[in-house]
Amino acid sequence: RDLYGVQRWGNGYFDINDDGEAVVLLRDGEKEVPVSLQQIIEGLKERGSAMPQLLRFRDLLDRRIEHLNESFRSAISETSYQGEYRGVYPIKVNQQQQVIEEISEFGKKYHYGLEAGSKPELIAALAYMHDPNAYLICNGYKDDEFIDLALRAVEMGIRVILVLEMPSELMAIIERSKALGIRPELGIRFRLSTKSEGHWAESGGDRSVFGLNSSQLIDAVDLLKAEGYLDCLKLFHYHQGSQLPNMRAIREAATEAVQVFVNLAQEGAPMEILDMGGGLAVDYDGSHSNFHSSCNYTLKEYASNLIEVVQKHCDLADIPHPTLVTESGRAIVAYYSVLIFNILDVTKFSHPEEPDAPEKDAHEMLHNLWEIRNRIKVKNLQECFNDALFYRDQVRDLFRLGFVNLRERSIAEKIYWYLCTTIATQTAELEHVPEDLQTLESNLIDFYYANFSVFQSLPDAWAIQQLFPIMPIHKLDQEPTERAILADITCDCDGKIDRFIDQDKVSTYLRVHKREAHEEYNIGAFLVGAYQETLGDLHNLLGDPHVVSVSMENGQLTYTHEVEGDTVADVLSYVEYSPKDLEKRFRGFAENAVQKGTISAKQRKIIMEAYKAGLHGYTYYED
Ligand code: PLP
Repeated sequence: RDLYGVQRWGNGYFDINDDGEAVVLLRDGEKEVPVSLQQIIEGLKERGSAMPQLLRFRDLLDRRIEHLNESFRSAISETSYQGEYRGVYPIKVNQQQQVIEEISEFGKKYHYGLEAGSKPELIAALAYMHDPNAYLICNGYKDDEFIDLALRAVEMGIRVILVLEMPSELMAIIERSKALGIRPELGIRFRLSTKSEGHWAESGGDRSVFGLNSSQLIDAVDLLKAEGYLDCLKLFHYHQGSQLPNMRAIREAATEAVQVFVNLAQEGAPMEILDMGGGLAVDYDGSHSNFHSSCNYTLKEYASNLIEVVQKHCDLADIPHPTLVTESGRAIVAYYSVLIFNILDVTKFSHPEEPDAPEKDAHEMLHNLWEIRNRIKVKNLQECFNDALFYRDQVRDLFRLGFVNLRERSIAEKIYWYLCTTIATQTAELEHVPEDLQTLESNLIDFYYANFSVFQSLPDAWAIQQLFPIMPIHKLDQEPTERAILADITCDCDGKIDRFIDQDKVSTYLRVHKREAHEEYNIGAFLVGAYQETLGDLHNLLGDPHVVSVSMENGQLTYTHEVEGDTVADVLSYVEYSPKDLEKRFRGFAENAVQKGTISAKQRKIIMEAYKAGLHGYTYYED
């Protein structure tokens, strides 16, 4: 039984081994070996590293680049398409240096390029553009400094293409080009009228923020002609939005785009490149559907559909097939990272074990509550629930008035949850479950307190209810008998995850194993390589987790590129505290306490050591 759906969302990269541990399948030379995530964590613990941990798998990054490029290559070779595919990786999706370095190294054989959407991204990208056949596509707002740098890079032989996002950029580029005496390579981003689906539908369509509409596009063409720059216009670009679940919408947009491309060629521009933006989706829930966390197409289908649409319309217009570019980010890096965190504590709501009976002289209402347990039958579940609720509320009222003490109230609450658990377990036998009893089910879901921050490490789970595959990474050979919501350690009521993949549906709870106090229990959030790391924030001053890159080399598990997570001093300095100053101030208070005789000098030493250890330690819970 694939309770967590790993066979579907794992895409052949993740699985479960016979010991009940989640594994990642990594290449070691020609072989593919399953590597247990729990063993990776054990290895890190032996090395003294604490939880949470972000694991990165360079091999999965390479395989995604390979898969994307090979899908286009084979779609091209299966048709008589005359152009090439030459993708670019949009830096914004995961800007980590290690990612850009790997993409520029491993992607070399595919002339895989980069997309920069801002000045910092351009500056980073330029340092990795060692392939004269790869593109560096520049989207986003461009000031003179940006334009000058890009033009100088063109002079060096780097294929930098400046894409107009706004009409006003054109004159600025022409002026800088004239001033420096360097001809640019230009592209234009267009606002398609075709509407998309999914979370990012607003990135496309008439009301999208970026790109030129058709009249602005024609004005730009006229200006290029008037200024003698039409020969610089080579690329046409559109971006429909990220995580596009439906192939039909992608085809429709491509059809509109290729018509614009054809028209630009007919206007006399030497159009070479059709840049179809991002949007290639990841099947996070494994449903292979047009639900927003999924996609109803494979990578191969994506490539062959795009090739087919472009080929058909270019042939009809009798213009050469362009080089196709996609700016696929999510599909390249999502699989790359897995976040592992440990469970710190549990709050149980379900009480399958019968509690102790109330004392003989306890208030009558407690006895009434206790009696209900003998009456529970499938045919009177609703009635028993109503009674349980009534007597529980009576006890609460009596407590407020001082007729029931705290100890008795606590016994009543225990009985109430036991009754609810008993009632809930029998609702499965009902043909129609009344609404009250449906909510009862969800009220019985336990809280598992997890050592991480949703806001720092899974911001999309909070901001846009993105569904990520989440499951325990060990004990998977045992039945997960409990149901839990994961609460993070930010103490924020939004700091929780309550949507999970359960077999083939979305569930409001995660199936988890019973956890004894202090028992190690580790959970993995998978497919978190795209967007999460840099969108994350410092809510409650919980910083970046520890990061490590894991690979297999000659049969050995290898840990590299270890980056220690933020220390408390780091995060405090992000919000303008000076750690040195804090320490000085606190030392002053401690010394005052010594002067007043509140603590001894020896105690001051111990307190200062604790303060310094905290300041220079990890921001997460440490054992
Ligand atoms: N290109 C542009 C212009 C974008 O704005 C984005 C992000 O939304 C991307 C590419 C990457 O999209 P995705 O991660 O869906 O491939």
